Amino acid sequence: MKLHEYQGKEILRQFGVNVQDGKVATTPEEVRAIYQEYGQPVVVKAQVHVGGRGKAGGVKFSPNEDKAEENARNILGMDIKGLTVEKVLVTRAVDIDAGTEYYVGMIVDRNVQSYTLMASAEGGMEIEEVAATTPEKIIKYRVDPVTGLRPFEARAVAIEAGFKGNLNKIADMMVKMSKAAFERDAVLVEINPLFIEADGTPLALDTKFEVDDNAMYRHKDIAHYRELSAEHPLEVEASDYGFAYVKLDDGNVGVLGNGAGIVMTSLDVVNRAGAKPANFLDIGGGAKADVVYNAVKLVSKDPDVKSIFINIFGGITRADEVAKGVIQALDDGILTKPVRMRIAGTAEDEAKVLLGDKNSDLIKMYPTMFEAAEEAAKEANALGGK
Ligand code: GDP
Ligand code: MN
Repeated sequence: MKLHEYQGKEILRQFGVNVQDGKVATTPEEVRAIYQEYGQPVVVKAQVHVGGRGKAGGVKFSPNEDKAEENARNILGMDIKGLTVEKVLVTRAVDIDAGTEYYVGMIVDRNVQSYTLMASAEGGMEIEEVAATTPEKIIKYRVDPVTGLRPFEARAVAIEAGFKGNLNKIADMMVKMSKAAFERDAVLVEINPLFIEADGTPLALDTKFEVDDNAMYRHKDIAHYRELSAEHPLEVEASDYGFAYVKLDDGNVGVLGNGAGIVMTSLDVVNRAGAKPANFLDIGGGAKADVVYNAVKLVSKDPDVKSIFINIFGGITRADEVAKGVIQALDDGILTKPVRMRIAGTAEDEAKVLLGDKNSDLIKMYPTMFEAAEEAAKEANALGGK
């Protein structure tokens, strides 16, 4: 789960990181009031789950209260990479030219089976470009998962990255960031810019914080950060049903299967058949008719979906249960898009009998997943995909 900047900053603050002051607002009037409270220049910052807000015009320095209100008026409601800005963070501005902008971050790195710490003296808005063009300017360091990041290690990395300023305080901030990552099960934490004030003190001006979805059950204190309006509505509905569902861009074939492996294969097969999968949906093992019904309902709702490919290999999942769910969806008028299925395994014969009566342009069964995917792709492309 991605957190907003202000939420990530709240967590970092709990771990003792020196974070720039700021308050959240949803109206230009509130922004003016915050300016009056601070009585000094502020920065008005869009709170949306994307990076590069500054470049998109979502971060505005505001030298007086009129300007603060005007910037808020422009930023609230703004569209940034497809997301509408509903909140802004108003921060107590720093004099950016009087200090330096660095970058520090931590990411779960499967290659090293731990976190990798990253540090660069080239912080600010261009870090993606630094990573692409001069990756040697980003120092990487494997953090021991048992000890966590230790102060002497943080200090060595800061020196190697060429950081200037109060190195003890900078290292201390990195250690605190690391504790926050470990204890809140972050998959990613970034502080960028990590601002070094004229006297050498580090201050976090911006953060990205992403928590492992699979660990959310042990972070009840973070659960309330979730904003349904900031997520894809179908993903919200899927999580209510307990499905593993991922909406995919530019697809036209809805895909569902029983198990992550078979669904991954199904995505490949759809691609090979010349269409594009519109989603990943795993109904899990042992799904009964009602689960299948909900899955079909969910996928059908996606306007990108022109046809549906169902790929079931029944082990503990019974093919006849799958058939019943699909038939129920058909009878309830939920199924309006062509369904092409391959249902094999346990109770396959029963499923064939049930579906035999329903065989139509809308529902067709095929002996192999390749044929079913071919047909689903053909239908989707004919109906005009993306
Ligand atoms: P991002 O573009 O989404 O990463 O948003 P940031 O919060 O990192 O802000 C982008 C840029 O705005 C920073 O790199 C700074 O150059 C600038 N900025 C952010 N906070 C301040 C501030 O307090 N004062 C000034 N003068 N500039 C700031
Ligand atoms: Mn930033």
